Amino acid sequence: MQDYEDYPATVISHAKGVWLYKKDGAKILDAISSWWVNIFGHGNKFIAREIKKQAKKLEHVIFANYTHESAVRLSEKLSGLFDHRLPKIFFTDNGSSAVEVALKMSFQYRQIVGETRRTRFAYISDGYHGETVGALSVGSLGLYKKIFEPMLMDTLEAPGPDCFRCPYDQKRYTCDAECFEKTRRFLAEHSQVLSAIIIEPILQVAGGMKIYPAIFLKKIRELCSQLNIHLICDEIASGFGRTGKIMASHHAQITPDFVCLSKGLTGGFLPLAAVLTSNEIFEAFYAPYLEHKAFMHSHSYTGNPIATRAACAVMDLFEKTNILKKSLKRGDYIRERAQKFLSHKNVGEIRSIGMVTAIELVKNRKTRESLDGRNRTGYRIYRRAESKGVLLRNLGDVIYFMPPLVIKKKEIDFMVDVAFDSMRKILK
Ligand SMILES: *Cc1c(COP(=O)(O)O)cnc(C)c1O
Repeated sequence: MQDYEDYPATVISHAKGVWLYKKDGAKILDAISSWWVNIFGHGNKFIAREIKKQAKKLEHVIFANYTHESAVRLSEKLSGLFDHRLPKIFFTDNGSSAVEVALKMSFQYRQIVGETRRTRFAYISDGYHGETVGALSVGSLGLYKKIFEPMLMDTLEAPGPDCFRCPYDQKRYTCDAECFEKTRRFLAEHSQVLSAIIIEPILQVAGGMKIYPAIFLKKIRELCSQLNIHLICDEIASGFGRTGKIMASHHAQITPDFVCLSKGLTGGFLPLAAVLTSNEIFEAFYAPYLEHKAFMHSHSYTGNPIATRAACAVMDLFEKTNILKKSLKRGDYIRERAQKFLSHKNVGEIRSIGMVTAIELVKNRKTRESLDGRNRTGYRIYRRAESKGVLLRNLGDVIYFMPPLVIKKKEIDFMVDVAFDSMRKILK
């Protein structure tokens, strides 16, 4: 709150496309999709209309023994995301609770099938999976976790990739994921007690927009199958076209055992999340009621009709508008324009995939030594850029672009130029 004393919160009155408007008409370009949720731009007419229709028809109904058209339609569409290999869908209402569900389902599956020693969960370094107690327990970032450590589950952090500071001196797209050997050894060592490992496929978002190659993901899929460890892919931020494919897991052509979806699922209109899983997992829970094998987990707003209708609209738009193909070109253009950052000595790396481009600022490009965090350099760049009309919201000293997929060329020019000028001004 102290930050706000000399920097009051910005009041937004309305929004359209990539633009947020203040009451006085001043506008700010939303370069981060309002924390990674917006896909088709603010105020998308089609999604808004579908929501209106649904609200008038059926706003909510109990989702136990009752269902409705939007939930059914959405389930069919989401099942199609992984070629119907993950046809069983569980709805919740935010990303963290989707992660909780995936963890609990994996755990209960082990109990039911008699693998009762498999009670633990792993995650990889720099992973982030939300901030409720279970989700936080499988997160790696000390910033969110440290103070709560005594109340969290006893989880295991497996070594993950770190392409910018690769200890093997390899390049991101030509390596053979040499670093995976460490991950393999770690998981093999704990394989008897592990229920699942959770990872963000290809793009570790909150961890600083870290991008790793598909080969790492392929290897972890193979290993999990060998060791009988469930693979949970958290596509909450990476899904819905951000990386140039509808799901980031598709880069590695893998099928996880569980997939968590949220954020872009409703195009940034309403809170909704889903967990996808396989028939095989489902079958374990399938039994006469009195055997008590059912998955006991519920939320009051599970399968909310308005939220699921918004998500149906998003899936319709992906089918109808060719947005993925178009966004690939826009992503290329952002990458091309962002190259000018390299002229600055404090730019350590520009990394990019699909519609995401991140710039990591460092003290020394050669040694890749980080900037002194106490200077809050990224934060100061964010503030400067906002005053010039671009919402950047840094992740530490990583500045990134993750705009709605519909951003136009001119808007990209403005976004990149303001970010670049702000960086130069702050870093001199
Ligand atoms: C945002 C995020 C979550 C948590 O979702 P919430 O809806 O904020 O609880 C989980 N995993 C990833 C990868 C995320 O980016």
